[in-house]
Amino acid sequence: MKKQIKLLHPCTDLKPIINKYIHDKWQQTWNSKTQNKLYQIYPTIPSYSTLSSSYQRKDQIIYNQVRIGHARLTHSYLTEHTDPPKCTNCNQLLYVKHILTEYNSYDQTQHQHCSINDIKNIFNHTPSQNILNLQL
Ligand SMILES: [Zn+2]
Repeated sequence: MKKQIKLLHPCTDLKPIINKYIHDKWQQTWNSKTQNKLYQIYPTIPSYSTLSSSYQRKDQIIYNQVRIGHARLTHSYLTEHTDPPKCTNCNQLLYVKHILTEYNSYDQTQHQHCSINDIKNIFNHTPSQNILNLQL
């Protein structure tokens, strides 16, 4: 016969405590991954989704790809078996960070969509739709 345990509080009271414990463990692991591209943007794990679920799945995927620096514009060469794209302005390899923060001739479009020139702050303070509008 199973022994029943009487809890003083309902199980739902434990949920926020368990969530905090998991979040803290995740943050500890994350803190050891400082070379991860996403760590530069999110050193602190957000306790909420970074892109609203009201966005279509396709846009959520594109947004997350841009966040980790793997946009179609910068990485499609891998599947197309071509040379990596280079910046038409300075001829260096084209990276998302370069496009969003350093690419001077892109300024007009960049500032139209992202008025901040620090990669971390772009994703933390620029509306998601503005980043999606860049169509990277
Ligand atoms: Zn450039």
